[in-house]
Amino acid sequence: MRFHALLLMAASLLLPSLTCAQGYISRLLHQPVPGGVAVVGLGAAEQVPQVFYKKDRVMVVRDSDQAWIAIVGIDLKTAPGAQTLQVKSSQGDRTMDFQVQAKHYKSQHIKLKNQSHVTPDPAQTKRFEREYAEQMKAYANFRQSGPSNVSLDKPVEGRLSSPFGLRRFFNGQERNAHSGLDFAVPAGTPVKAPADGVVTIVADYFFNGKTVFIDHGQGFITMYCHLSAFQVEQGQEVKRGQVIGLVGATGRATGPHLHWNVSLNNTRVDPAIFINAFTP
Ligand code: ZN
Repeated sequence: MRFHALLLMAASLLLPSLTCAQGYISRLLHQPVPGGVAVVGLGAAEQVPQVFYKKDRVMVVRDSDQAWIAIVGIDLKTAPGAQTLQVKSSQGDRTMDFQVQAKHYKSQHIKLKNQSHVTPDPAQTKRFEREYAEQMKAYANFRQSGPSNVSLDKPVEGRLSSPFGLRRFFNGQERNAHSGLDFAVPAGTPVKAPADGVVTIVADYFFNGKTVFIDHGQGFITMYCHLSAFQVEQGQEVKRGQVIGLVGATGRATGPHLHWNVSLNNTRVDPAIFINAFTP
């Protein structure tokens, strides 16, 4: 009897970290690899828990089974193994672990005619640093209101070309891995917002060319690069399906395509996960 009671107690203590989320969003988005997404079940508390991962606030929504779930972006440089979330709720503070599994990413060699896009001169470096800071600030924004949808529409219809996470060598020199997903589509193709949001950046950048950021709420942020034209202004609210600009080849692009980033808790993750096109 006593032994049983102890076992039950142990089980109930263990339960929170063993809770496996079962709803629709969890089944779609849970790809816990470097550059992927972990969906962590938080139970059915009445009030929404606050979740933090490496000091960044994490998106929390209700899944189709009404359980709260944390949707955590995992940085591409994360080593496989256990990671810890901080959870603050009306029942007190606790930590919850999730496991990151290994994933292999391929390499790609790209030849650029414009050497300044490989090694920028000091003035270009200064410009890039200013632009980089502006983009990092937009990615770090956390609005309380949640996204209209977390399963996203494709921003354009077309073939997927460069996948997320490719290790890239420009004229033989290794640069950052590919932080987004490319669509091979002709110049002039309309780019549509994949969810409601607020436009936080409309700018012409050195590497990214003509760029739009949409803030969907709770740190869920998307970016569209190399556009030929804008159809939105900074600060504007956009609806799912609204055209935000046209595909182009501005900035560091070898030809017309759409480069699309998706970010959660200030971490760039594989956009393919959100359009049900993820390959493990
Ligand atoms: Zn790209």
